[in-house]
Amino acid sequence: MVSFRKSEELMERARDVLVGGVNSPVRAFKGVGGTPVVMARGEGAYLWDVDGNKLLDLVGSWGPMIVGHAHPDVVAAVIERTRLGTSYGAPNALEAELAEEVRRAFPAMEKVRFVSSGTEATMAALRLARGATGRSLIVKAAGCYHGHGDSLLVKAGSGVATLGLPDSPGVPAELARMTITVPYNDVPALERAFEQHKDAIAAFIVEPVVGNMGLVPPQDGYLKAIKEVCNRHGALLILDEVMTGFRVAYGGAQERYGVRADIVTLGKIIGGGLPVGAYGAGKALMGKVAPEGPIYQAGTLSGNPLAMAAGLTTLKLLRAPGAYQKLERTGATVQQGLEDAARKAGIDLCVQRVGSMFTAFFQQGPVRNEDDALKSDRKRFGVFFHAMLQRGVYLAPSQLEAAFLSLAMSDADLKLLADAAAESMAVVARG
Ligand SMILES: *Cc1c(COP(=O)(O)O)cnc(C)c1O
Repeated sequence: MVSFRKSEELMERARDVLVGGVNSPVRAFKGVGGTPVVMARGEGAYLWDVDGNKLLDLVGSWGPMIVGHAHPDVVAAVIERTRLGTSYGAPNALEAELAEEVRRAFPAMEKVRFVSSGTEATMAALRLARGATGRSLIVKAAGCYHGHGDSLLVKAGSGVATLGLPDSPGVPAELARMTITVPYNDVPALERAFEQHKDAIAAFIVEPVVGNMGLVPPQDGYLKAIKEVCNRHGALLILDEVMTGFRVAYGGAQERYGVRADIVTLGKIIGGGLPVGAYGAGKALMGKVAPEGPIYQAGTLSGNPLAMAAGLTTLKLLRAPGAYQKLERTGATVQQGLEDAARKAGIDLCVQRVGSMFTAFFQQGPVRNEDDALKSDRKRFGVFFHAMLQRGVYLAPSQLEAAFLSLAMSDADLKLLADAAAESMAVVARG
């Protein structure tokens, strides 16, 4: 047995002073049991925990670490900027540089505002949609997560579902009532919502490829259809690409599926592992945001030079020729390894993947929405998770999360992963 003794000691201490010992509930291992692993260091495709265990990392900080941990170029860029001071509370030259790069990748974002997290980006996007349309209602898809903003914590996917929480106390009922939920991949349900609430819906916010109920891709034509429905009803389509931006393609799901949102939200990868979020839209719409317009939104550390430098460097690495082909090949190899392992062990497994993000659902599938995702065998997932951890592979500690692959993964790493999966599936089969 691999020992996690130091992690257990540190977590015991942390639980006394941090809520649940963590600063984000998804890290608490509630969905799989056991004690969270406390990390000491990351390099390339691996994390090392405080007990010295070397773990192949399939979490990638929940998405941002697409070039691997501590990439030398990113480290150098951040160190260089650190020497120049870490925050000015005034403009720095990197902000427009990163914004130009974001706009090249996401043409819908003619103007960009940087914030410090994905949550902030989606909250600001809702305010913009409501302010611009003069309407109050928001439609979201059940099982999508858009950060922990009040209006968005309704049927909010993995973190909440893993904890078995309904929707969060502390969200006023008056506000929750302003959020309507529809199933993902269901255009008629969206149509019905618009028919019922004529001219009152400001926006439909959705993950174009869902990562937060486990990975669920959009069905053919879904994204184009929802755009058309929103247009027809004078509402805005907010594509939340916090997870998919620079992940499923450089230009996110909008590039991959040939759609264009009215408002886009980004996070995770654009910060290269430092805290950055962004929202953007056409010039007219963004012109309504302060200081050009009356819709207020601000941030002391927004556009922080270290974070901008990490983001710019990460995006530059992603523009290297062949980067996304390599991510695609890595994804296909991992998927094959998992499917082979499950078949040999006689375990029902449905691997859903878009590029370098995927979920292996313990069920026959297909998984098209949250109801489908919740049919997965979470007990089996828990056994698989711990078997993989014992074999040096670190997965997200919940069946309802996506796994993230990185450019740092070598053929040897993928072999290690496939071997661990084969052994772990056999453990699952033994029950
Ligand atoms: C992670 C995530 C968020 C929230 O971002 P934070 O930086 O954690 O606040 C919002 N939307 C989606 C789709 C996400 O995956």
